[in-house]
Formats: sequence, C-alpha cells, structure tokens
Amino acid sequence: MSKKIGVIGGGIVGSSIAYFLSRYDDAEVTLFEKATIGSGTTAKSAATFCLIDDSVAHEFWSVRLFGFKFYTGLEQDEPGSTGFEKTGTLTVAPYKDYEMYVQQAVDLTVASGYRAEYWRDHAKILEVIPDLNLDGALGAGWCPDDGFFDATMLANTLVRRARGAGANVMTGTKVEDITTRGDKVTGVVTDKGDFALDAVIDATGPWARTTAGYVGLELPLWHTKAEVFILVPAAGLEYPFPILKYPRFYARKDKDNIFICKAHMTMDLSDTTHAGIWDPDDLPMTGGTDAYFWEFLTGELFEVYPRLLESSIGNEWVGYRAEPPDFLPILGDTPVEGYMLAAGAGGNGVIEAPTIGRDMARFAMTGEKSWYLERLPLSRFSDVGKVVAEAQATKLQR
Ligand SMILES: Cc1cc2nc3c(=O)[nH]c(=O)nc-3n(C[C@H](O)[C@H](O)[C@H](O)COP(=O)(O)OP(=O)(O)OC[C@H]3O[C@@H](n4cnc5c(N)ncnc54)[C@H](O)[C@@H]3O)c2cc1C
Repeated sequence: MSKKIGVIGGGIVGSSIAYFLSRYDDAEVTLFEKATIGSGTTAKSAATFCLIDDSVAHEFWSVRLFGFKFYTGLEQDEPGSTGFEKTGTLTVAPYKDYEMYVQQAVDLTVASGYRAEYWRDHAKILEVIPDLNLDGALGAGWCPDDGFFDATMLANTLVRRARGAGANVMTGTKVEDITTRGDKVTGVVTDKGDFALDAVIDATGPWARTTAGYVGLELPLWHTKAEVFILVPAAGLEYPFPILKYPRFYARKDKDNIFICKAHMTMDLSDTTHAGIWDPDDLPMTGGTDAYFWEFLTGELFEVYPRLLESSIGNEWVGYRAEPPDFLPILGDTPVEGYMLAAGAGGNGVIEAPTIGRDMARFAMTGEKSWYLERLPLSRFSDVGKVVAEAQATKLQR
C-alpha cells in the first residue's frame, strides 16, 4: 500500500526531501510551497560549497561529501542544472586552532579524492589573491575543486525531477493548519483545500516555529540575520576570484562583483543585533541591512583586504537563518506521530540538504533512522541550557 507523505516548504531542504521520496515506488508525495520553489532563504543564499570550511564540523564530513558529490553528479548528468561555478576556495587561518582545523579539512579533502593543500608560504597564497594583507596569518588552505552553486536552480532541478517521478508539486499553496486525531497527523489544511496524509515533513526553514505551532510544538529555533553586500570593485578585479574564507566572514564572486557575508558561526543568539524571533514574511527581497554590519565588514576588510573597500555597493539584502541553539538542524520524529521535522539548517542548508533529503525520505518510508537523524533529534533540546553550554565549549574561537 502506498504512503501519502506531505512535505511543507519548497526550499532547498524540502525540494531535496521531495526528490528522494519520489524515488520510492510506494510513496505518494505532495510538496506544498506557499510561493515559488526556492524563493525563501534559499533565494538569498551564497550557496558556497567549500570542502575546506569550518561551518559544518568534521564530525559531519560524510554529510558534506555526499552533498558535494550529489550536486556535482547532477551537474555532470545535466550540465547547467545546478549553477555550479568551480572557483576553488582559499581559507585563511589567523590562529592556531583554526589552522589545525583547516589542515584536517585538507587531509579529509585529499583522502576523498579531491585536490587540496595547506600553505604557510605567503607568496603562494598571494598567487591566488594578490591584494590580501597577510600580516599575522599563519597560512591558508587551498582547494581548487569546489565552488558555489545556485541554490534556487538546485531546488528547481530537484523538484522538476521529483515531479517527473510522480510527485505532486503545489506551488502558491499555503499550509494553514495540520490536522491530527489523538496525537497522530491526519493531513493538512491549505488555502487550496484539505489533504489527507499519513505523514507530514516540515521543511519550512525560518517559518518552522509557526508551522510547528499547528501541532502544538514550540521549537527551539531562532532567526539570525544573514546580511549580504554585493560589492562592485572600483577598478574591477584582474584575477579570478575564488571563495575567500576567514573565520568571521566570507566572500565569493557574483558575476564581476563580490558577494560578502558575515560567517554564520559568529552569530550570538543572545545578541539582539544578530538574533531574535521575527516574521520571515516581513523580510523584503532586497535592502534592510543594519549599520552594524557595514561597520563590521569595513573593519574586517580594512585589516585583511583593504582594496575591496574601494567598491560601491551594487545590492544588499538580509535573509533569516533558522538556528537551533547548537547551530545544527532538527531532524526526524517528534512527540506528534506522523509530524516530522527537517528544520534549522541555519547557514548550511545547501550543504546539508542532500543528506537530509536522503535520510528523511528513508525514515518516512521505512522507519529506519540514519546516524544523522539519531544524532540530531528534537529531543536533544529537553535541556536547552546544557545544549547551549556544550555548543559554546566546542565552538572555535572567533
Ligand atoms: C545570506 C545567506 C548565505 C548563505 N550561504 C550559505 C552557503 O554558502 N552554504 C550553505 O550551505 N548554506 C548557506 N546559507 C543557508 C542556506 O541558504 C539555508 O540553510 C537554506 O536555504 C534553508 O533552506 P530551507 O529549505 O530550510 O528553507 P527556505 O529556503 O526558507 O524554504 C522554506 C520554504 O517554506 C515555505 N513555507 C513557509 N511556510 C509555509 C507554509 N505554511 N506553507 C507552504 N510553504 C511554506 C517558504 O515559502 C519557503 O520557500 C545561507 C543563507 C543566507 C541567508
């Protein structure tokens, strides 16, 4: 007998779940998206996919690797369907712990069959970005094989494939309630009618506090501001621009310009400038950045990349990252039978979406939990204070 599964949210996470669910012959999949596919946080993303990167801890290396192989596999299969730009990544290490982290990432990258090196020789680093000020830098990791994707394009490619495999995709359809009998999900109420379902997977990103409220759950989920500037360098750049990562900010090319953003691991959930609980529907597509962000960024650039200060601002926007207190997603079952969560991907949703999609689909269809789902259940927040203390203790110094 087939199983009727509803996925709420057509961002990169929900699209991936719908794609993997549609591989099961006995899954009847309906994806509900209130706007268009990939138009939420996903549309505002840098979608960098760096192999040498501290935003997803090495504990989750297989998550990073599976995601990268999955997306580059899609690109190989259907060139132009992921927006992949293979720019490489330069990750500069300003202090010892960070250096060790980068060196471990280099080893993992090489062991996984990709190219990577760690350089202490500043002249080598300056061959990649000649304008950097490397005073105080210990070295840098370089991987020429990675780059960034177009997250909205990825989501649309996955949904197109899911639809081709039989999934029902309902865009412009808002889920307004989740119905239950006893403590079990029976379906959803939408602005286009009611749907009877065996299970619902909530992949609404920063909206998940609202949708979880439909089944009476209060999620430990904050919004952090992901503020972006598109810098237009005054004299243009006469070298290919890779992804540039420092512990506190990162940059990548955006056509002939530079996309620049504060690293999400620097966000402090107790600082009201960075974090809060807001209504994602109030966010405009462009504009809305805070003065503090400009000050932060000019300070960073002044120290390490003064040439970029000679730029005008071509565009700016703010996205809300959905962050649980340990900055890791919430995955799997909940106290409400048939209501599952794939929320809180924070600043790593593009990297994590393929593994989340694969593992959530398997769990929904077979009941089998991967180690990833076992590691990141909602139940880990029964003592939020303890989780926050542990997360702080393991955070790299910024
Ligand atoms: C500036 C910025 C830079 C980033 N850079 C990176 C990066 O380099 N690498 C990386 O891996 N990640 C990055 N991220 C994070 C990544 O983009 C997010 O984690 C990811 O896009 C979240 O995807 P999602 O599907 O969970 O949420 P969303 O994309 O927000 O999707 C949720 C969807 O649910 C829909 N929805 C909400 N409520 C309802 C409802 N009631 N009914 C129907 N539909 C509903 C919304 O319309 C939305 O489309 C970045 C994020 C930002 C903002």
